[in-house]
Amino acid sequence: MKIHEFQAKALLQRFGVKVPRGHECTTPDEAAKAHTELGTPVTVVKAQIHAGGRGKGGGVKVVKSADDARDAAEKILGMQLVTHQTGPEGQLVRRVWVEEGSNIESELYVGVALDREQQLPVMMASREGGMDIEEVAANTPEKILKAAFSPETGLDATEARRLAEGIGLTGGLADKGVAFMQALAKAFCELDCSLAEINPLVTTKEGEVVALDAKINFDSNALFRHPDIVELRDLDEEDPKEIEASKHGLSYIALDGNIGCMVNGAGLAMSTMDVIQLHGSAPANFLDVGGGASKETVTAAFKIVLSDPKVKGVLVNIFGGIMRCDVIAEGVCAAVKEVELNVPLVVRLEGTNVEKGREILEQSGLPLITASDLDDAAEKICRAVEA
Ligand code: ADP
Ligand code: MG
Repeated sequence: MKIHEFQAKALLQRFGVKVPRGHECTTPDEAAKAHTELGTPVTVVKAQIHAGGRGKGGGVKVVKSADDARDAAEKILGMQLVTHQTGPEGQLVRRVWVEEGSNIESELYVGVALDREQQLPVMMASREGGMDIEEVAANTPEKILKAAFSPETGLDATEARRLAEGIGLTGGLADKGVAFMQALAKAFCELDCSLAEINPLVTTKEGEVVALDAKINFDSNALFRHPDIVELRDLDEEDPKEIEASKHGLSYIALDGNIGCMVNGAGLAMSTMDVIQLHGSAPANFLDVGGGASKETVTAAFKIVLSDPKVKGVLVNIFGGIMRCDVIAEGVCAAVKEVELNVPLVVRLEGTNVEKGREILEQSGLPLITASDLDDAAEKICRAVEA
């Protein structure tokens, strides 16, 4: 789960991370008022969407008067902000965060992510902070320093100092950098984050170390431990197909290809996608209907898969273990009758009562293609989509 910058800053502040003061605003007048209330000569009006790269997309404006704050908010609110993380359609801006401007001396980067190889969280730091950290990571990965740490003991002070000094902090700034990274590491673990990224972390002319941006993602499997974080969820920022899927207890993941996949179980989903790629196409999404899908959930699943305009064909690949194949086949037929199907559909069933299931599909008179195994199914849907 993702949250907005202003929410992330409020959470991090609880752990002792220094962030600029600011106000959340939904109208230009509120932004003007926020500028006046903050009382600093410069404030920054920042679009709040669940994507980075806002600065380059025109979603961050530095202003010097209440009138300019109003104008900036007027432009940003309601805009369809396009960044490298939103996709070409962009994301509608519904609120801005107006915060005090910082006297930036240098822009650095720090972030915590999970290192799956070491099975530990890892603190990353770089002097090349600001807007192009993705390029740094891709072209000069040696400029990103790393320190793994145990969630039990937190980030060791010596390691934090190695990183702080490694990114050019000295004297009092190094001390503040160490404290900052330790606080960030603690927040990451206690809040069950999957990512906590500060880009930029700045040093100011007044000698402070401040988080000017904050991006936090949470491990959804741990959200039950954090009801206060669940409250921060903003459904406006999420893919409506994913929201619809979660209402039916389905897991939906959007991808880039053109074949919609309806499967049961994550492992089967992975192998289905692999075999599709092997036959020359790519999945547009996958929807995991889980172990106990009913006719209703199968219908809902179909509607979600087909609502994606990228989908040029659908592959249903279901193993009837707990569920019987005849029940699944009935569900698929009912769903096809209910939704308007104008792309090819290949169905592969395996497991309990598979013969009966195939018979139901074949005798349904519906325009679906049956397949005997996964390879056959992937081949058939790839060829049907090409045709
Ligand atoms: P994004 O990463 O989405 O582009 P940021 O919050 O990182 O958004 O802002 C982009 C840039 O705008 C920062 O790198 C910084 O140079 C500038 N900026 C952001 N907030 C402030 C602030 N409070 N004071 C001064 N400059 C800021
Ligand atoms: Mg940023």
